[in-house]
Amino acid sequence: MIADFTTNATLITFEHVEYLKHFRCHFQITLDGGHVSHNLVKRNKSIDTYAKTLESLSLINDNIRERFIAVRINFDNNTLLEIDEIIKDINFLDRIKSYVILKKVWQLSTDRINKDALLGAIQNLIDNKFLVDYYIMPKGCVCFAERENEVLFNYDGEVFKCTTISSFTNENTLGKLDFSTGHVEWNTDKIYDWFRDMQPEYCKKCKWFPACLGICNNQIMANKGHKICTFDSFNLTEKEYLMYLFKYNILQKELYGEELK
Ligand code: SF4
Repeated sequence: MIADFTTNATLITFEHVEYLKHFRCHFQITLDGGHVSHNLVKRNKSIDTYAKTLESLSLINDNIRERFIAVRINFDNNTLLEIDEIIKDINFLDRIKSYVILKKVWQLSTDRINKDALLGAIQNLIDNKFLVDYYIMPKGCVCFAERENEVLFNYDGEVFKCTTISSFTNENTLGKLDFSTGHVEWNTDKIYDWFRDMQPEYCKKCKWFPACLGICNNQIMANKGHKICTFDSFNLTEKEYLMYLFKYNILQKELYGEELK
């Protein structure tokens, strides 16, 4: 069993970590930029959220042995220029048990990504021995949200599958947790769509399909009638993307040897 958390980590305390250290835990912890930029995005003047997030990262890194930490950097073009600062601040992380996800913010359209800054940020992270997930392929497995036994609980007992949906509202809820029994009551019509084969024919015929595994059902449902592709998110040519994969694989081998993570 894996306890998996996607969080900005500002509420994690030593007591939580003391409890969680008995379990296998995966964390996806978000940063929205360097110190100043991150705190501006959080707009919480009463707390230095950047410092608090780093403190939680350190607590997890130092105390939970069976852990895996993904630092997700939600980037715009300014954030890409702050990668040096972020690397310096997360440099304490054990590279074997952590990696970095680069995720474009929705406000920045893909074609406006500063490609030089993006490639520079990826190179900088790799030079500092951080594996970087920038829509990495091969995906290796289907998305967690498409696994039958995966459940995402919201604080109010509403049940979802995917952490990246636009809002955790009634419209998107897939079921409800009964707090007294621990039983999940699924909306059977909605949950059916998560598991049926929706892959478009153009994906099944694509040369990247074995590595890409196509588009997730959540995206297909959200973009009904549109031809979408994983490459739409990159703003990299195939050649540039392959170079990134090449560097990733060299570093992965250096960190893990023949035993891949
Ligand atoms: S999402 Fe794009 S790259 Fe992936 S299989 Fe479909 S067409 Fe190919």
